[in-house]
This record gives sequence, C-alpha cells and structure tokens, in this order.
Amino acid sequence: MSTLRFRVVEKAFQAKPLEVKAPSERPSEYFGKYVFNREKMFKYLPSQVYAKLVDAMDHGAALDRSIADEVAAGMKRWATELGVTHYTHWFQPLTEGTAEKHDSFIEHDGKGGVMEEFSGKLLVQQEPDASSFPNGGIRNTFEARGYSAWDPSSPVFVVDDTLCIPTVFIAYTGESLDYKAPLLKALRAVNKAAVDVCHYFNPEVKKVMAYLGWEQEYFLVDEGLYAARPDLLLTGRTLMGHEASKNQQLEDHYFGAIPTRVAAFMKDLEIQALELGIPVKTRHNEVAPNQFELAPIFEECNLAVDHNMLIMSLMRKVARTHGFRVLLHEKPFKGVNGSGKHNNWSLGTDTGILLMAPGKTADENLRFITFIVNTLMAVYRHNGLLKASIMSATNAHRLGANEAPPAIISSFLGTQLSRVLDHMEDSTLDELVSLGGKHGMKLDIPQIPELLIDNTDRNRTSPFAFTGNRFEFRAVGSEANCASAMIALNTAVAEQLTLFKQEVDELIERGETKVAAIVQIIRKYIKECKPIRFDGNGYSEEWKEEAARRGLDCETSCPIIFDQYLTPAAVQMFESAGVMTRKELEARNEVKWETYTKKIQIEARVLGDLVMNHVVPVATEYQSKLVDNVFKLKGIFLAEMADKLSAENLAIITKIAEHTTYIKEHVDSMVEARKVANKIADEREKAIAYHDTIAPMLEQIRYHIDKLELIVDDQMWTLPKYRELLFIR
Ligand code: ADP
Ligand code: MG
Repeated sequence: MSTLRFRVVEKAFQAKPLEVKAPSERPSEYFGKYVFNREKMFKYLPSQVYAKLVDAMDHGAALDRSIADEVAAGMKRWATELGVTHYTHWFQPLTEGTAEKHDSFIEHDGKGGVMEEFSGKLLVQQEPDASSFPNGGIRNTFEARGYSAWDPSSPVFVVDDTLCIPTVFIAYTGESLDYKAPLLKALRAVNKAAVDVCHYFNPEVKKVMAYLGWEQEYFLVDEGLYAARPDLLLTGRTLMGHEASKNQQLEDHYFGAIPTRVAAFMKDLEIQALELGIPVKTRHNEVAPNQFELAPIFEECNLAVDHNMLIMSLMRKVARTHGFRVLLHEKPFKGVNGSGKHNNWSLGTDTGILLMAPGKTADENLRFITFIVNTLMAVYRHNGLLKASIMSATNAHRLGANEAPPAIISSFLGTQLSRVLDHMEDSTLDELVSLGGKHGMKLDIPQIPELLIDNTDRNRTSPFAFTGNRFEFRAVGSEANCASAMIALNTAVAEQLTLFKQEVDELIERGETKVAAIVQIIRKYIKECKPIRFDGNGYSEEWKEEAARRGLDCETSCPIIFDQYLTPAAVQMFESAGVMTRKELEARNEVKWETYTKKIQIEARVLGDLVMNHVVPVATEYQSKLVDNVFKLKGIFLAEMADKLSAENLAIITKIAEHTTYIKEHVDSMVEARKVANKIADEREKAIAYHDTIAPMLEQIRYHIDKLELIVDDQMWTLPKYRELLFIR
C-alpha cells in the first residue's frame, strides 16, 4: 500500500485557503511602499541631489560620483525606517534567475564597536565573487573579476530586511555577463534610431521608449504532492504520468471560477507585488487545469523586465506560504497546455505618442505604417534570431506542439491593417501621394480605426501578432528572462530603423519630397517582408511547408537554433548597434549549449532513478501478486477452468514483463548514450548529441512507464498521478 501518496493526496484535498488580510489602505496608497521611488527620493534627498539623480534616470546622464554618497545616505535612512539591515546588488546572470549576496550595513566604528554605514561606493559598484556564474569562458576563475554596477533607471526596493539594488554585471574587460547590460544597450540603440525616424514627423521628440507588458502564465501544485514527485522537484516538470481521463477537453477551466485556495494566493501575491511597485492588474484561470495567468500594466521595458524577474521570485515565495509550489516550467505536464509569457511590445515617445497605434490623420497614419512596416522588416530579416532568443531546453517542449506558437516566427496583422498595406502596395506612388492644393501633400492612406482591439480578429496561433496598438511576441517561455527576447527584438528594430532612415535620406538628397521618399521605401518594404505575414492556422502541417518555401527559418533542434546568434547578419546587427560583440555572442552561446546539455542530463538521471526505485519495483511487485493468483487458481480449479480464469492475468503479466524489460533496457542504453555524449569536448556538438540521442529516449521510456501506470494496482503506485496533481479543490 502506497501510504505516502495517499497521505499527501488526502492532505491536499483537505487543505483550506489561507486567510489573507488586505492592508487597510487602498492599493493606490500602498503601491510602491517598498520602492525608493521619486516621491521618496524627493523626501529623503537634498534637492540638488534629487535633480541630478532624476536627470541620470531620465536621460541616462552619467551619475556624478560626488552625489552617490548623499543618495546612499538617503536610501539608508529610508530603508532603516523599514527595519532594513542588509543590502544587496541584485542582478540577472545567465542562469534565468536573479542573484544576490547580502551584506549588512555594519562597519567598524573605530572604537571597538560597529555602526551602520552605507556609502555611495557600495551603492554604485561591487565586486561579487562571481566566478561561479556561467560566463561561457569569458572569465576564468583566475582571470580578472567581474563587477556589478547600479542601474539608476530601475528603482531600488526592499524585500524583507534587505535593500535590493538593481545592477548590471560586467567582466572587468567590459563584456556583459548578464541580461541587463545588453538590454540597456539595445534600448539605447532603439531609442536613438526611433528618435531619428520620428523627426520626419515630429521634430520635438527627444526620446523613444520601448514598452513591455508581459503576461505570466504558471501552474500551481499542492506542496505535499509536489514533494512526492522527485521529477517535479528536480527538473520542474513531470517526466512521467498518464493523462487524467479528464483534463482540459471540456474547456471549463479558462476564465472559470478561481478555486478559493488559489484566490487567496493571488490576493496575497498581488498585495505584495503592488507594495513592490509592480502594477499587477489582471488575473484569471488559464486553459489547462491548475494553470493561471497574471499580468501587470505595461511599463518601460527595462523596468518591466526587472519586475517580471521580481514577481517570479515573489510567486515562489508566496506560493509556499499557501502550501503550494508554483511551476514556471514551460511544459510541466504532458497532454495539457504549457505556459508562455506573452511579451506585449511597443514604442512610444516622450511626447506621449504610441508609435504602434493608428492615428486620426493621414500624416499620423503614415508614421504608424512606418513603424509597423519597419518592425515587420526587422522580424522578417531576423526571424531565425528571434526564435533563438526565446529557445531553451524547456521552451522547446512547448513550441511546435499543437497548442503553442510553432517553431517558425511569422506575424499576424489582422484584416484591417493587412488591407491598408495591400492598398499601399497595389497603388502607384502618384495615387498615394498627390499634390493637394495649398495644403501641399495629400496622402491616400485609408483610415484605420484607433485601437483595433477586437477579439474576433485575433489569431491565437501567431507567434508575433499585431494587437491594436502593440505587437504581442507570444513565443516567449514562462520561465524565461524576457530580456533575451527584448534584446533581440529591440536591436533588430533599431538596425532596421537606421537602415530605413539611410534609404529615405538618400532619396531626399536626390530631390524627392520627404513624404514621397518615405512612401516609396515603405512600399518597397511591404513587398520585401511579405513572407513574414501569415494570417492562417500556424499549427497546420501546410504552414510548415509553406514557411519553408517562403524561406523562413524552420529549424526545430534547440542547439542548432542557437547558431542564429552567430550568423554574419546577427553579429553585424549586434555589433553595429553597440549591443554585443562577437566574443560576447560566442560566450553566451557556449552558456546556452552547456545549459541545454545539463538540463537534459539531469532529466535523464532523474528518470533513471525513478524507474529503478519506483516504477520497476512496483510493477514487479504487482506482477508477482498476479503470478501468485495464477498459481492459486491452479490449486483449486481443474486445469481447463484455471486456464480460463487466469487468461486475463497472464496477459497482464506478459504486458508488465514487456514494458519493464523495455524500460530497463532503454535506461541502460540511455546511460551508455550519455557516456558517449559526455566525452564530446565541443559544447555545441555535445548539446546536439543530447538533443538527438538522449532527449528522444526520455519520451520513449516514458511511453512505457505511462502504460504501466494504467495497468498497475492504484493502491501500489507510489507517485501522485496527474488527476491528483492537476485538480486543486
Ligand atoms: P490579452 O490576454 O488579451 O492579450 P492582457 O490584458 O492579459 O491581454 O494583457 C495585455 C498586456 O499588454 C498588458 O500587460 C497590457 O498592459 C499590455 N499592453 C497594452 N497596451 C500596450 C502597449 N501599447 N505596449 C505594450 N504593452 C501593452
Ligand atoms: Mg495576450
């Protein structure tokens, strides 16, 4: 009798929701309580220090070292009032998580005691011993150290007793070792390129921001059940488990009533998120049982990325107080939907224009079309790279399956916008741009209703869809750091806008009017980027063939997809935009391949252990029981009758033997395959070996385990089943 499984199941089913006390104030009052935002800067800093800091935040002005001490003192005063005793540089290494090392404020006071101190030097720069973070060989342990440096554009915040300072993480030789440094560079590049293009239309624009609104999907599992599944615990996903007879086929979970235990968790999470200045707004059930979504109001991209990293760790923490574990893996359960993190992306100016939103006048719409078409060109030219930017061992399970964006990047525009682009393509230049009396140019661009947010015109299968005033990059994985996708996308758009400006300027120099020049180049682009536009069913087989004909990247092997970072076009793009050098790109790819290998390696080990410790022993025990029964039948019945009565059991005995034999043999060959792969020195080749030989074995073995789960006595099965894991009461 499998007591642990039944005990945890019983406990999970009896668990009561935790009572969550909401703060007595309204959300607008406790929003940002733990953030050193402008309001607090103003209160805790001398006015000229405040002014300089705001300038550094808004315009990227270098932070004057002379004021750092005063900023630090103000921060410390604020933090101490909240009971803070420690501080940390909070950064985003290439591990997908965040890293922090806490130091307390205490220093020697010179009189044999200690005092609380926090200097500007400690705020601005630190040298964490970071030799154990992945760096792809940029920095060996015996080489120069790396350092972390404060990013003033993302505000400092307090978690528990610690002041957290968002920082970049860089090698002494200058290479980025994290996600934030290249992201800031990509945002700088897109700002510059987009401001230049904006000047064709609005000369007063000084700054263009990239915006990001992420939608975080996740699963919740009761913590007792989670603890009884070593695969979930060690790999983040179930490596085995037969589908429950009911899962999502009735479509009764999406937007359904939220279970009370989960509602309590969400409420708690939202309060804590708001206190940390994360503007969370939306919550609902997702498609799969136990799957949910959380989304804030969009923010400036760098801050939104930080907030997403912060909320992922907050979710993990809050889930535990509610007796849950949160699963951020892209595919924790086979047979039900996986989790993504849609990245809603757009550009907007300091003058308040949303550049991806249609306007009211023909001029405004030409600007709108300019930014849309340049984005499409960027996505078209770098579609393989964008796919690489969201690819990982875990997200690979989700992409290409029949529920998520396929492993081909294409863009859906909706009927109205498509019609406008078709119109521009089909008309002549003279028809589009005519001289209209004393008003000068007349533009024949059809009206587009502002905000096309219309659910009837949405294509859920598109990995990069236009949704009214933004693009939604849907292929991003739930566990990923959004920065990876945002670095690639913003850099690609920056490069494209720069190119566009060159081409338009050339025509103007040759005597074209500005509007005619813009329209001419736009029309050329509309033709050129056509292959990226796809409004049909992205899940269909026909699309795969069609996409290949169109020359889109159709590679499905994760380690090979990473090659996209090192194509001449990608290296040229990243280098010319000042985002990453070839050396950095190479180093980061080493990390990607290494991580891929390790993840599959861990899964293979865990599966091997589960098979030998749980599955095979239980199946064998049950088989013996049946064998016993067969013998006993022979003892009390005549041969003919006994044969008849034991026929069924004999069939099951044989099946169990077949499955267990297969499993044991293949676990052995998986070990052998790993030995072979581990001998490969080249990280890329090793990752390919893991992808081609070991990853498929996991699936083959699983098939037989899942069959056994169906046959073996439920009382004996040790591991919680899908029907138990997936249905929170
Ligand atoms: P849906 O699930 O219908 O796509 P949600 O409301 O769940 O929509 O999420 C949409 C996300 O897009 C939110 O984070 C929202 O703030 C964000 N968003 C809305 N407008 C923009 C924009 N112009 N730029 C970037 N993000 C945006
Ligand atoms: Mg969405």
